[in-house]
Amino acid sequence: MAVKIIKYLSELIILFLIVGYMLPEPLVIPVKGGKDTDWNHKTFWYEPWGKSVVHKGIDIFARKGTELLSATNGIVIYKGTLGIGGNVIAVLGPKWRIHYFAHLESSSVETGDFVSSSQSIGKIGNSGNAKGKPSHVHYSIITIFPYLWRWDNSTQGWKKIFFLNPSNKLLSKI
Ligand SMILES: [Zn+2]
Repeated sequence: MAVKIIKYLSELIILFLIVGYMLPEPLVIPVKGGKDTDWNHKTFWYEPWGKSVVHKGIDIFARKGTELLSATNGIVIYKGTLGIGGNVIAVLGPKWRIHYFAHLESSSVETGDFVSSSQSIGKIGNSGNAKGKPSHVHYSIITIFPYLWRWDNSTQGWKKIFFLNPSNKLLSKI
């Protein structure tokens, strides 16, 4: 009996993981009115980048208070304040990827909320270590399941198995 239940549960989990990978990822620039000229297309993995050493995302510039949009459909898995990131939101989206937004002025969602692509979830700011700098959203895409083939010899290159390049992802959708 117990063996049967374990087998059933493991099949259910595998099915759940596969379904997650098959979900379409309707990606949008996560800033209202945002254009592909609002970020530098080459700052992913740029170094030196302060305490982070390399830049594990992109910075999309916008006026303070501009609406932050969810880049894709998903569930808010974290909304809170971190030292470097300031006010941040993390959304778990399709394909088991986490979309992380930092330096916000404010957020209008709570942990556990379901959000859809293009939905307003907060406001652009310069909180955390962006204080005193032009307002922007730091955007990272992190895969929960590592893409081992992305590992390379750059600084902290092994972390590329988790951090995907949001610039490439966004530009391929435009
Ligand atoms: Zn950044």
